[in-house]
Amino acid sequence: MAEARLALDDRLYAYLLSSEPPEHETLRVLRERTRALPEAPMQIAREQGHFLAFLIRLTDARRVLELGTFTGYSALAMALALPPGGTIVTCDLSECWTEIGRHHWRKAGVEANIDLRIGPAVETLDRLEREGKPFDLAFVDADKEAYDAYYEATLRLVRPGGLIVFDNMLRRGRAADPEETDPDPVAIRNLNAKIAGDERVDRVLIPVGDGMTLARRRVP
Ligand code: CA
Repeated sequence: MAEARLALDDRLYAYLLSSEPPEHETLRVLRERTRALPEAPMQIAREQGHFLAFLIRLTDARRVLELGTFTGYSALAMALALPPGGTIVTCDLSECWTEIGRHHWRKAGVEANIDLRIGPAVETLDRLEREGKPFDLAFVDADKEAYDAYYEATLRLVRPGGLIVFDNMLRRGRAADPEETDPDPVAIRNLNAKIAGDERVDRVLIPVGDGMTLARRRVP
């Protein structure tokens, strides 16, 4: 008999959400607000926010790095799970999207815990390396063609034992298509192959949302 593999139809997906703890009210409002934008598919799904919050608590993360703020849902989900004094450094290019995030972070009372850096991520990453303060967890959900560069940079920035989480690692199935030549899914496919063989990390690719890879930097 084949192993069980589930496709989530609408009923099962609704059941999954109903089996999770209630979503924080400000998260719900922000998710609805973002849904009205043309770029709405860039927002992580509700269960992914829940999963990230769980990972923060599981790993006792206090210092978190995020690449790709968008309208701030994932940063808010993680900030609400941080212990007192915990911080998130989150990077994006857009003043406009992140302003929506800022507004909701303030409403949820976590704005002081979120350090927003506007600018190209590679420059922010260089600056963070010079600052030299390691992170416990990094969440990467930004431009896919730069994922390999983000992987190498976050691997230097998280502490040994720290966790890197990548979103969109299945690219709606396109990562598995050998005919695919678009640089975006090709970049994802190459990074999946690289991480699978990378002894610097413990790693798992799980089919949550559009596929999330967890890579834990090994302790030497
Ligand atoms: Ca994403």
